Amino acid sequence: MRVHTYLDYNATQPLKPAAREAMLAAMAAPSNPSSIHGFGQSARNLVEAARRDVAEMIGASPGEILFTSGATEANATALRGLPGRTVLVSAVEHPSVQEATNCLVIPVDAQGVIDLAALDRMLSEIDGPALVSLMLVNNETGVIQPVAEAAAIAHAHGALLHSDAAQAPGRIAVDVAALGIDMLTLSAHKIGGPQGAGALFIRDGLMLAPLFRGGGQEGRRRGGTENVAAIAGFGAAARLVSEDLGSSAQSPSPQPSPIEGEGVGKALSLDGRGLGEGDAGAAQQDIAAMRDRMESMLRAIAPDLTVHGAGARRVCNTSCFGAPGLSAETALIALDLAGIAVSSGAACSSGAVEPSRVLLAMGVPDETAREAIRVSLGWATTRNDIDRLVENWAKVYRATR
Ligand code: PMP
Repeated sequence: MRVHTYLDYNATQPLKPAAREAMLAAMAAPSNPSSIHGFGQSARNLVEAARRDVAEMIGASPGEILFTSGATEANATALRGLPGRTVLVSAVEHPSVQEATNCLVIPVDAQGVIDLAALDRMLSEIDGPALVSLMLVNNETGVIQPVAEAAAIAHAHGALLHSDAAQAPGRIAVDVAALGIDMLTLSAHKIGGPQGAGALFIRDGLMLAPLFRGGGQEGRRRGGTENVAAIAGFGAAARLVSEDLGSSAQSPSPQPSPIEGEGVGKALSLDGRGLGEGDAGAAQQDIAAMRDRMESMLRAIAPDLTVHGAGARRVCNTSCFGAPGLSAETALIALDLAGIAVSSGAACSSGAVEPSRVLLAMGVPDETAREAIRVSLGWATTRNDIDRLVENWAKVYRATR
């Protein structure tokens, strides 16, 4: 395989070995959790154990977890499940939120942080019930939104708050009670679990219309036989997040590291910048140290570098940057040829390199938005990965000068 350096964790993470093992074990037997025979009961036990693990990861109770096919379906369920509400979403939401239903758009500032005063104003102008959707962590910039504050404002107006937290667990602590929210979206493959599994936390007592009706699965909230193996893998990955065992210090790299014994930069100093609120676990500190070191090396090479959202609170693993005259497309192709995987804008919509809607919403000029690439680190990232990225980016940057 040509890719040696994977720095696109926000697109998807390498599957953690424990998740793979849990999936293989689940696939070893026929497994329909609705069957009443022994095989069915074993499958039911796997699903319910995973529900407990996912609930624990976010401080919820198991009955508040609805398993879905991923964050996209969880977002659609949250936004379409309460018909009759006016839906307001921030200007930097993932397309699966922005396009789930008709909605009003709440502006963000130049760092990509929601304008809470605008939210307050917009809610006061709405007649009837409303629902606000505000992501916890932006997938492109890593910026952390003031979700607890937004929830308090929403509740003061009698509105509900949903948060797409697909990019949050493992980067920052996620606690639904501390956030004070009503619904929260999760995705398994953003935490080292498999694609095709996700969840929606639905606060106890809140009733949503199902997107799919059918066999009455998931407490009649989602028809369709559960994806047992993927759910088991999701549960295993969630358990690792809760136990904070997801660090590269404890897990082997899935890819060969060209330098034997290269570690995760434990010796680096860390000033706390870039860490998420209330969460400076060892794994997150290592990742933040590597990300911050990368950004300072890039700035030393390119004094005209822009790091988008760097003035806001960001999660430890994400960096979205660019330099004038070096298009994202050129940088991505050069890095790909060197075996380094990063992305531009949202990976979900890549293929065609469009300027990122998130950056445009932050007031970034079209040309600058076309220059932004996203590097996202994770549990198997090494200092050597960062050195290779910087070295190869420097080559293509210098070629444009
Ligand atoms: N929301 C956010 C913030 C995301 O980053 C993504 C994945 N790019 C999604 C939703 C969609 O997730 P899934 O692939 O699980 O549907």
